[in-house]
Amino acid sequence: MKFSILLASALSVGLFACNNADKKAESGDQNAAFDQYKDHFVEALWKTYPGWASSSGFHKYDSILSIPDEAGRQAELAFAKAQGDSLAKYSIDQLNDNNKIDFQLIANQLKSITWGINDQKAFEWDPSGYNVCGGFAEMLNNNYDSVDNRLRNVALRLKAVPAYYEAAKANVKNPTVEHTQLAIDQNLGGSSVFTNDLVSALKDSKLSQAEKDSITADAARAVAAINGYASWLKALKNDHPRSFRLGKDLYNQKFDLEIQSGYTAEQIYAKALEHKKDLHSKMAAISREIWAKHMGTEVMPSDSLLMIRMLIDKLSVNHVKPADFQSAIDKQIPELVKFVNDKKLIYLDPSKPLVVRREPDYMAGVAGASISAPGPYDTLGNTYYNVGSLSGWDAAQSESYLREYNHYILQILNIHEAIPGHYTQLVYSNKSKSLIKSLLGNGAMVEGWAVYTERMMLENGYGNNEPEMWLMYYKWNLRTTCNTILDYSVHNLDMTKEDALSLLTKEAFQQQAEAEGKWKRATLSQVQLCSYFTGYKEIYDFREELKQKEGDKFDLKKFHETFLSYGSAPVKFIKTLMQ
Ligand code: ZN
Ligand code: ZN
Repeated sequence: MKFSILLASALSVGLFACNNADKKAESGDQNAAFDQYKDHFVEALWKTYPGWASSSGFHKYDSILSIPDEAGRQAELAFAKAQGDSLAKYSIDQLNDNNKIDFQLIANQLKSITWGINDQKAFEWDPSGYNVCGGFAEMLNNNYDSVDNRLRNVALRLKAVPAYYEAAKANVKNPTVEHTQLAIDQNLGGSSVFTNDLVSALKDSKLSQAEKDSITADAARAVAAINGYASWLKALKNDHPRSFRLGKDLYNQKFDLEIQSGYTAEQIYAKALEHKKDLHSKMAAISREIWAKHMGTEVMPSDSLLMIRMLIDKLSVNHVKPADFQSAIDKQIPELVKFVNDKKLIYLDPSKPLVVRREPDYMAGVAGASISAPGPYDTLGNTYYNVGSLSGWDAAQSESYLREYNHYILQILNIHEAIPGHYTQLVYSNKSKSLIKSLLGNGAMVEGWAVYTERMMLENGYGNNEPEMWLMYYKWNLRTTCNTILDYSVHNLDMTKEDALSLLTKEAFQQQAEAEGKWKRATLSQVQLCSYFTGYKEIYDFREELKQKEGDKFDLKKFHETFLSYGSAPVKFIKTLMQ
């Protein structure tokens, strides 16, 4: 069924003027060649970005640490130019849908590389971009190879650390105060990898004592280089630091390259403002309706935001006991599966059930739930749903956490992370496995899908249309919406910290600590906070558009299955291929 839809949509794009036989031959030729080109592209990508290769699970270049100097940047630009020339030999019209998307993802990646070096220039103003610790931690802690082989690569890579930080110091110019502090904190914090993880790996290994001594000496030099970089940053005379605000031009460009949306940043900002207003009015209406039921004779305040907050606080008390947190999540997964199947919302492959597991030790302390998916080269790895426990938390901490992830929000979290959110999307994207999509996949589509499913489930009656469930859902959705408003306003409109905190606490009903954390994140990142709302809005708007056009013939289940069949591609490309 799905294949006939795909075929129909490919034909309706109407790119081929010639007859069927010619079309097959031509597109077949280009696709075979393009598949080969993609392999070459990835090979060249890993040569240029050995650190990225290692973290993606491709370990051929583990021994290499790229030095972030001018020569390195020239090599990146040359890579982008050469690959762009190769890409230009293909005509996107002659490629199949899968390759059309891969073509666009590669083209966008090449543009991002050039833009990052020539325009954004974060290598000058963001000193936190220089940090070797994470790469070493991955090599020391992941068992993809014997400890001795991993240590031999560590030994070679360690030699380059002093030169790496010398290059960093030569690059940094008028850095932002915020990224300077982050660089100091993260480098000093991360360097424990050489005292803890390295020491225990050396203990486990059968390398000769001479080899071990040599690694230990080079590790000491690496730590000295890291400490030296941190001290250098602390002492840096920086009379004219760059503002952490990216500014309109760079922000718009970054938004286009990173989010790859059919909307501009400004359009998304306008949509987020409108959406917030709409959410507030819906929340106020529900709050009036259920006020007496929950608040009894308490006087309803005339300030509607205050009224909503009082109800949210009241409803948040409805939560599981700390000891029942994990079992509550366990229990919900089969209920979500049943609901999706009963309502025929999307096909869930029964041979790929979600594996729920207790959070592994190295993740301990991150309560809640998250998906761990195997990397693109780990074809046999399992996908897990990690569920944290609150054991060891003090009473106040766990009470505050459980109020946040109360009876209602916990269900929405499971929809988002698991069924039919991230996990379901992953199962579909693995069916059309493409290394390019795994490596360059679109974050706004992936997050947008998970956010979209929250609303879609409620619209289809999940939670029995209880007004309390809807009220809490709207609060949850406000977070995503206000992330976008915050990010855009901070980087384009000079929003002050005071205004930001007021937006998040008064209008999005967040706790002070959450709001402070979000402000910090907005000063350190750009655009990423927009991905959730942008993806959600694009998918939702697209669905509504199709519904309007197709009327009675619109089939929600088919829409979902077809939409996900293209893999983690930007929504605007999926849209073109589906129409
Ligand atoms: Zn409580
Ligand atoms: Zn998510």
